[in-house]
Amino acid sequence: MLKSLAPNSSIAVLGSGISGLTFSFFLNRLRPDVKIHIFEKSKQVGGWIRSEEHETFHFEKGPRTLRGTNTGTLMLLDLLTKIGANDKVLGLHKDSLANKKYLLSPFSDVHGNNAKLLQVPQDFSSFVKFMFDPLSKDLILGLLKEPWQPKLKYSDESVDHFFNRRFATKLSENIVSAIVHGIYAGDVKKLSVKAIFPRLPEMEQESGSIIRYMIAQYRTKKNVKQKVDPFLADYEKLIGTSLSFKNISLFLKNFPMLSFQGGLQKLPISLKNHLSQIENIKFHFDSKIKNIALESGKVALTDHDQVYLVDHVRSTINTNELAKIISPVVPSSTKKKSVFKSKANGPGLVKCLSWLHYTNILMCNIYIPKHVSKSITGFGYLVPRSMSSQASKLLGVIFDSDIETAMTPNFTEANITAINSNSASPKQLQKFSDQFVNNDLPKYTKLTLMLGGHYLKSEADMPGSAESKHAVKAILSNHLNIDLDEFASLPDFKMEITKIPNCIPQYEVGYLDLKRKVQNAASKEFNDQISFGGMAFGDGVGIPDCVQNAFKDSATLSGI
Ligand SMILES: Cc1cc2nc3c(=O)[nH]c(=O)nc-3n(C[C@H](O)[C@H](O)[C@H](O)COP(=O)(O)OP(=O)(O)OC[C@H]3O[C@@H](n4cnc5c(N)ncnc54)[C@H](O)[C@@H]3O)c2cc1C
Repeated sequence: MLKSLAPNSSIAVLGSGISGLTFSFFLNRLRPDVKIHIFEKSKQVGGWIRSEEHETFHFEKGPRTLRGTNTGTLMLLDLLTKIGANDKVLGLHKDSLANKKYLLSPFSDVHGNNAKLLQVPQDFSSFVKFMFDPLSKDLILGLLKEPWQPKLKYSDESVDHFFNRRFATKLSENIVSAIVHGIYAGDVKKLSVKAIFPRLPEMEQESGSIIRYMIAQYRTKKNVKQKVDPFLADYEKLIGTSLSFKNISLFLKNFPMLSFQGGLQKLPISLKNHLSQIENIKFHFDSKIKNIALESGKVALTDHDQVYLVDHVRSTINTNELAKIISPVVPSSTKKKSVFKSKANGPGLVKCLSWLHYTNILMCNIYIPKHVSKSITGFGYLVPRSMSSQASKLLGVIFDSDIETAMTPNFTEANITAINSNSASPKQLQKFSDQFVNNDLPKYTKLTLMLGGHYLKSEADMPGSAESKHAVKAILSNHLNIDLDEFASLPDFKMEITKIPNCIPQYEVGYLDLKRKVQNAASKEFNDQISFGGMAFGDGVGIPDCVQNAFKDSATLSGI
């Protein structure tokens, strides 16, 4: 359990990605007396959020959108309103063509290619097509059988094991694996169902069946008053907001994805510009922390030339890297027993931090300075595990130009006033949102391909640029009928391959246990003077998860 910070304490934040920045923002709001030092090894803020500027366009080298309906997103929107950057928020309306999502299916297409893109159901007709596609083979039978599967309780199990056990079909291989590729670039056979879909095992325990639970929920939904998210209630109480979270959430139901004008990295940059003006917040760029140790009740951090003494360290960096730089002190009572081996004390912090496994992604960004028809418009497509042999380790493709063209600014002052209005009913908010449906045709073509992930055993397994470009050309030709060579000579045409090593932590079976061990070890060996945010041991791997975790822990540390 984190201890609250004493008056006028100092804290070191490791990393100026979205986690470090939002944590600093919230902590400063709650405890302006605390001196915050933000250490960043590079010259810029954003971490994985990196928008690379080109003359007429930008490439996103990490995330480009974030989920619209989420607690962390609401907190972030409030934060952006507080720093005056809300008008830069863009939303993708659910009814825009660019919100159509696809899966790669084994069905042959009209061109004779042995794979086609199957739309994820959005309405009745897409639902019927989906259910009769080979990808959904046995799905109906699996859904019908699920309520009669025995209720079992596992301490933990893989996503694949859970779905096979409950639905007894190829659901995991054909559909769930694709979703998991899109979020974790991970393997359904290794990832923990309790860590990444925690509600599903809970539903099984509560109702004996997922389907029965859902039917019961649907029946009672109309009579039950929507509960206020406890974190949002805390947020309103502690940080305060001028937004009506209830109305904004209803409005956001129409915007599954949000982004930021000019590239997502402009968001952390706006936040940095705001934080730089606050007296008790100091940024240290080009400052890679190389050692962290307890020293006479303080935490000593060393960068290339200086030692800083603080009362608490908030780490948001890769935990394998963190394991290499921390020197934990063994508590005197356990010193002789060696905390690293004793079963009673559990494994040491360094060991636990290095146990978390990260995945490697190969990203290919493509820009063609004209609109190229690819027969479908949408958000992009994901590739299920069962289709891997036809897709060269492809995890998914994002249709950036479709998304960017459809995005509209919907959080201007005037819009917020209208959404906030007490009299706005859910129907009115829905109607108000309809003006943001945008189906304009893009004037350019921008695509991002994500490859590798769990298909690559290690960073060393990542293919070179030439091999990757060859694979990408074949994928685009087979799946989208795009011949890249046709456009390569156009001015401004760009194709970039980027290796993104050790980027997404994998919540594998046993992860929740590991998280507890990390917290216990930090408590014993670091006297609770270190805490962990970000993707590794926070609330999840997405940007909203990082923001929510930043608020939660800043509130606990603030002691308010
Ligand atoms: C390819 C990819 C695609 C993604 N797509 C999405 C998406 O579509 N939507 C979504 O919500 N999320 C997405 N994510 C996840 C999202 O990027 C993360 O949730 C978020 O960026 C994590 O931010 P962070 O601040 O926790 O960590 P990071 O962004 O990793 O920031 C950590 C910072 O610490 C710095 N640092 C590291 N070591 C040291 C040191 N020793 N000393 C000082 N500084 C150090 C680093 O330079 C970095 O700036 C994606 C991630 C990846 C990799």
